[in-house]
Amino acid sequence: MNLSYKIFIALILSVVAGLVAGPESLPFIKWWIAPIGTMFISLIKMMIVPVVFTSLVVGMTSLGDMKKLGRIGLKTLGLYLCTTAVAIVIGFGVAGVSHPGVGMAMAGSASMEVKAAPSIMQVFVAMIPSNPIQSMAKADILPVIIFALFVGVGIIQVGGEKGKRLSDFFDSCAEVCYKIIALVMQTAPIGVFALLLPVVAQNGPKVLLPLISVIASVAVGCALHAIIVYSGLASALGKMSPVKFFHGMSEAMLIAFTTCSSSATLPINMKNTEEKLGVSRDICSFVLPLGATINMDGTALYMGVCSLFIANVFGIDLTMQQMGMIVLTGTLASIGTAGVPGAGLIMLAMVLQSVGLPIEGLALVAGIDRVLDMFRTCLNITGDAAVAVVVNETEKVHETEESLA
Ligand code: ASP
Repeated sequence: MNLSYKIFIALILSVVAGLVAGPESLPFIKWWIAPIGTMFISLIKMMIVPVVFTSLVVGMTSLGDMKKLGRIGLKTLGLYLCTTAVAIVIGFGVAGVSHPGVGMAMAGSASMEVKAAPSIMQVFVAMIPSNPIQSMAKADILPVIIFALFVGVGIIQVGGEKGKRLSDFFDSCAEVCYKIIALVMQTAPIGVFALLLPVVAQNGPKVLLPLISVIASVAVGCALHAIIVYSGLASALGKMSPVKFFHGMSEAMLIAFTTCSSSATLPINMKNTEEKLGVSRDICSFVLPLGATINMDGTALYMGVCSLFIANVFGIDLTMQQMGMIVLTGTLASIGTAGVPGAGLIMLAMVLQSVGLPIEGLALVAGIDRVLDMFRTCLNITGDAAVAVVVNETEKVHETEESLA
């Protein structure tokens, strides 16, 4: 049986088992089953820094020259930023129709400690690694990416025999990483079951019902964004049928849904995008690690829905100007969001602050954030692959034109 079916069956089984078991069985589940999920996550995490670093360096060196690198870099960033901004607008649109939170009494009991969100300047400063080894040890991915970009540029500029020796070395390292990831993925059905079971048993339907409108808005928004934007991108610019695209993505989407982490899904996303969507390895190695870190359409869409939700709960009418501000800060905040579970909730604080919405609203979202995270992470990684498909196709066209000229 194909691996994605196995993962899907594990997902369904975990939901059924979680609902049947309920919160009473939590001590047993936490003691015996949750650790298996933790082991699965650790196995994936073990590969994040090695795969991001080696594949980005290889991705850059295999592009060969600075001109091509610049062209692909610009295309990738442009697509990432545009799709993210569109995602927030779709979030607004869906929330504008579904009115989540309207008439909801402010739950006085809801409280949470709000961590201060970093300012935009702090996000930029934190991107530069003062000590790359330390960033790797802390799995701080954005600085690792910046370092990998510099190493890649350095190798290209050294060129010749010396440059080639090093790029061959990184190429072999990346190859080993991919092999290990394929092995780890064989355990995914068990890992997924063990990860989801405690979440379903703990939350059950009771926690979800009062906030069902927010969950539905995020889920519908994500589905719309995937159907409109990614199908559109894949078919119009990537010359790929949406059916092939989503079928090829199913395994990675399921892993994103259960792990709630773009970084953890990256290794699987790279494997699927190359093998199932036919994107060349050099493009995958460049576009996907970057996307897993800076391209978060799902997180941006969630910020749009949640800011409207919080405004509704507190009876605040957002002006067009405030909405524009949310699109801007939401796009930037999603770039600064780490690809780990729950990171979007902290960055949501930055967006709320930027338009003067009450930060206390975060407490309402916090209770269901894990569920929202599943949908947004799923969209986050799908967006990276859609851009990879487009960049791959446009590069093919460019190369054909160049060879004709
Ligand atoms: N969990 C998301 C991700 O890894 C980030 C977020 O919390 O929005 O893509």
